[in-house]
Amino acid sequence: MNQKEKQNAIKAGEIASQVKQFAKSFIKADMPLLEIAEKIESQIIKLGGKPAFPVNLSINEIAAHYTPSYNDLTVAKGLLKVDFGVHIDGFIADVAFSLDLENNEENKKLIKASEKALKNAVQKTKLGIPIGEIGKAIQDSIESEGFSPIINLSGHEMQKYELHAGITIPNIDNKKTEKLQKGLYAIEPFVTTGTGKVYDGKPSGIYSLIDSKNVRNPSAREVLNFVEEEYQTLPFCSRWIVKKFGIKSLFALKQLEDNRNLNHFQHLIEASHNKVSQSEETILVDDKITITTE
Ligand code: MN
Ligand code: MN
Repeated sequence: MNQKEKQNAIKAGEIASQVKQFAKSFIKADMPLLEIAEKIESQIIKLGGKPAFPVNLSINEIAAHYTPSYNDLTVAKGLLKVDFGVHIDGFIADVAFSLDLENNEENKKLIKASEKALKNAVQKTKLGIPIGEIGKAIQDSIESEGFSPIINLSGHEMQKYELHAGITIPNIDNKKTEKLQKGLYAIEPFVTTGTGKVYDGKPSGIYSLIDSKNVRNPSAREVLNFVEEEYQTLPFCSRWIVKKFGIKSLFALKQLEDNRNLNHFQHLIEASHNKVSQSEETILVDDKITITTE
């Protein structure tokens, strides 16, 4: 990354940090997820960033990939994960926190465990460290609290307009000796009382562009052009497309999915249907490390 790119990553992180404080201040039990998502996304734009992906608001055993649809009536409750991203010219800050909305002791312990695991992982993170050692710090921290990390979810490198690129940061000691290089990384431990794996659930309404090849239907083509221009390869959601093109565009999205222009993400559900907490920060690894989202 050059100087300008690093500045964009830092700026995106500053916005994410401010939006995180804002979100923590207004999210309450029984608030519609739709209202929460729209408030967070508007605030990102107001502060001069763009959402790097739709706000994920995943409750209890849903670990990730729940974003409200345009007509969603779900309200905030239980153990809520709030995961959102900001980008400036494609340089991303990816951040997440968890909230206990039912005053439950186990929720609070799970949240503390993911926060502590993240802190321990960040302390380990530096240029040249074997990647498995970051995973080990996460696993040891979570297991010492009597919980399990989710082993098939992980942190990731981020590159320009690429949310998941290059290096993977595991949530367990995978013994990888590959060394951490300069770049932008998200570290995101997930903690559960369950078995520690997720499987694919229902379609989420979150998509990303995989192929801009031609599609016959003119309205599908119009949506595809917009996606390519506006989001490039970053994830987006049906709610955003409905806002721009109206409800009929849901049919265009279906065509684009069937034509394999778009990848459709599914909800990620904890295998034993136990609760999950998540904490995430973005780290710029250079000669020194900077937590851009802190
Ligand atoms: Mn995230
Ligand atoms: Mn992430």
